[in-house]
Amino acid sequence: MELWYTEEWTENTRFSIKAEKQLFSAQSSFQRVDVFESKEFGRFLTLDGLMMVNDKDEFIYHDMIVHPAMATNMNIKNVLVIGGGDGGTVRELTRYPQIEKIDMVEIDKMVVDVSREYIDVCSCKLDDARVNLYFEDGVAFVKNAKDKSYDLILVDSTDPIGPGEGLFTVDFYNDCYRILSDEGILVNQNESPYFESYAREMKRSNSKIKDIFPISKVYQFHMPTYPSGHWLFGFSSKKLDPIKDHNKETWENLNLNTKYYNSEVHKGAFALPEYVKDMLDAK
Ligand code: SAM
Repeated sequence: MELWYTEEWTENTRFSIKAEKQLFSAQSSFQRVDVFESKEFGRFLTLDGLMMVNDKDEFIYHDMIVHPAMATNMNIKNVLVIGGGDGGTVRELTRYPQIEKIDMVEIDKMVVDVSREYIDVCSCKLDDARVNLYFEDGVAFVKNAKDKSYDLILVDSTDPIGPGEGLFTVDFYNDCYRILSDEGILVNQNESPYFESYAREMKRSNSKIKDIFPISKVYQFHMPTYPSGHWLFGFSSKKLDPIKDHNKETWENLNLNTKYYNSEVHKGAFALPEYVKDMLDAK
């Protein structure tokens, strides 16, 4: 019998991957955690029936959550990752020698344990000496963090349903602003403009952040296994602009050998289609 993993993208749209076998399945205190093996996407991790990472396209998401901010502020030393339990975001961060500390706050230890066991491509740098793992709610963590204690916050979260809900609130974004240094940057998982339910969340989180941060933009990337494939991150900061303050040459001199991100992609990602601008009122 064939084994198919099927995800409900909308009430009327489904996305399926033929799987060779299921490697793991359990209910944690927060969500259902599954791992599959497939020919097309390699191993993949899903939470509550939604794709988180897979061997084949994780590099796109992890390049794009990390490098645009790092190329905008080349002095980032202290980083906070909220969520990101698979470890892919941390892996990309560890490539920068100037980073001194990476605090990763993941609510669900099972996601980290399972990634360490099955998704080595992402979890391989979680033992880097600069990485500190905290298993708690990111909302409470930022509430208790000191003013101006981070140069970069990356919100690598699930959607705003379930444990990720608090990471899309005004209180959370206010705390992020407070704990960022003067040249600090917040990058958040900003959902997708294409299907209605995702677009609604995209607009809601963007309008909340815009009221708090003087600079707030949205940038796009192509994520084949996320609903519609068209996905966005938010880029917000106290003073740095991702285009005007882009350190193209300095970043290129690091020779990081990225697979998706480059300086042209950096610039192009902030150029939004008309229908997205209309939704965000960003014209
Ligand atoms: N790349 C993924 C995506 O956008 O689909 C996100 C991957 S990552 C595995 C998301 C993580 O955020 C999950 O492991 C989840 O447990 C974690 N998470 C959700 N809510 C959280 C919260 N309030 N505090 C900390 N971590 C949270």
